[in-house]
Amino acid sequence: MFSFPNDYEQGWTLQNEIKKDGIGLHTGLQCSVIIKPSELEGFHISFSEEPNNIIPLNISQVRNTPLCTTLDLNGKHVSTVEHLLAALIGAGLTHVNIEINGGEIPLLDGSAIAWIEEIERVGMINSISSPRPRPEIKSPIFVNNGESVIFAIPSDNLKLIGLIDFPHKAIGQQMFSIELSPNNFVKEIAPARTFGFLDQLEELKKAGLIKGGALENALVCNGDSWVNPPLRFANEPVRHKLLDLIGDLAFVGLPKAQIFVYKGSHSLHAEFAASIQKVLT
Ligand SMILES: [Zn+2]
Repeated sequence: MFSFPNDYEQGWTLQNEIKKDGIGLHTGLQCSVIIKPSELEGFHISFSEEPNNIIPLNISQVRNTPLCTTLDLNGKHVSTVEHLLAALIGAGLTHVNIEINGGEIPLLDGSAIAWIEEIERVGMINSISSPRPRPEIKSPIFVNNGESVIFAIPSDNLKLIGLIDFPHKAIGQQMFSIELSPNNFVKEIAPARTFGFLDQLEELKKAGLIKGGALENALVCNGDSWVNPPLRFANEPVRHKLLDLIGDLAFVGLPKAQIFVYKGSHSLHAEFAASIQKVLT
């Protein structure tokens, strides 16, 4: 029986390819990815039209949009990468190549669980080469944007504490803390879906954005209630925020740190990842 690694210390790749199709959130068009085992350390991306041009994932490729994390790979854009990256790094994978067909990663159900199920199905094996050492911060790191804050202190393992505060009654104030391991990620974080607000979704749709957004790939909030219950966790929104943070940390690796995040966003996550990168180089 397959089991996920116990920690994030070893190098892991896939035992077989994963191929998955779906609808892209922004274009509403069919897109697909093939996630391939790799001998190269780290996460790499290639495009189906140029499969041998393998580009290492790097923090300088991140372009933030309010709704997702987009990559700019020498002028080619790939949107909505964060849930797939969260699944890969959260599961403990360290050596993977992602081949993209279309400009987006399928959104699936808005969480990382479908990727996790695929990883479980194909299995993981130890990589040939060692993984890059995990980032270790020597002193506290602090980034903020208005009242949004990320604060990290050195620690032996990765502990995440997420806090959100929404005026909508259905969400309100939520807190979730977790000591991250591949098994905890799979059970407690991966199933948490992205969420949005009904009025905003209608506006974004009218503006031609989120053409693929629907009730199947996000939890939709209508102020006091959810349009499409049931929730998978009572605090599913804050758990999803941690999922996004984990995905956005894939560019630098999972640091050995205790991280507190209040009202996080993709742009703040990127700034935080860049600060980690800075202390490493
Ligand atoms: Zn998300």
